[in-house]
Amino acid sequence: MRTAIISDIHGNLEALTTVLADIDNRNVDRVICLGDILGYGPDPVECVELIAARCEWSLLGNHDYGALYEPTNFNAAAEQAAYWTRAQFNRETNDEDAVRRWEFLGKLRVRSALGNFLCVHGSPRRPINEYIFPEDAINSPVKMGQIFDLVDKHCFVGHTHVPGVFTNEPEFYPPADLGGVYRFNEEERVIINPGSVGQPRDQDPRASYAILDEDEGLVEFNRLEYDVETVAKKIHAIPELNNWLGDRLLEGR
Ligand code: ZN
Repeated sequence: MRTAIISDIHGNLEALTTVLADIDNRNVDRVICLGDILGYGPDPVECVELIAARCEWSLLGNHDYGALYEPTNFNAAAEQAAYWTRAQFNRETNDEDAVRRWEFLGKLRVRSALGNFLCVHGSPRRPINEYIFPEDAINSPVKMGQIFDLVDKHCFVGHTHVPGVFTNEPEFYPPADLGGVYRFNEEERVIINPGSVGQPRDQDPRASYAILDEDEGLVEFNRLEYDVETVAKKIHAIPELNNWLGDRLLEGR
C-alpha cells in the first residue's frame, strides 16, 4: 500500500494541482491530507473541491478551523485572510456545490489512524494548534518526551510547514540528511512531517509532500517546482490578502 500524505495546502491551487499530478505518476493507492486546506492563499474553494474529490480523508487544521469557526491566535494578516476565505465560501450559499463543500469542511477530523500511524495536524497533545518545531528536538526534550508518550508507534503531523523526521531520541532529520528517504526500523519511533504543499517554510519554495510505502517500510519526501509567481500575483491582486503572503511564497519562508 502506497499512501501520499499531503498537508498545509493553504488555498494554493497551482501547488496542489502540481502535487496531485505527480502523485498520479507514482503508483499511489490513496491520498490523505493533514489539514490546513485553507488560509493565506487565493483559491480556497477550488482547493477544497480537489481535496474532497481526491483524498480518502482530511484532518482539520488551525486555518480550516479559523475560516470555519473563529480565527484564534492569528496575526493580523492571517486573521484578515481567514475572514476573506470564509467570505469566498459564503458567496453561493444556495448552490448545491456550496452545500456539499460546507458538509465536507464540517466533517474534517481532528485525528485519524493510518495503520500504525496516528495522524494529527499539530501534535498528539493539542491536535489542531501545537507546533512541533525542528529545534524542539534540541531545546525541548521534556515536551518531545510528553508528545512521544502519546504516540503508540509512529505519527504524521503538519502545521510547521517544515518537512522531516523526529525520532524519540529526540532528534530531527531534514529530508536532505536522509537522502530523501526514511526507512523504519525496530529501535526508533518517529514523528514525520511531510512539509507543506502550498506554503513551504524551509527556505525552499518548492511544494513538499511525502509517500508512505508500508510494504517497503519507508517514507519518501518529494519536492516539486510549480508556478509560484502566478500564485504570488493572485495574492497581490486581492486587497484582503496581505502582500507579504505572496512575497513569502517566493522565498519559501
Ligand atoms: Zn498551515
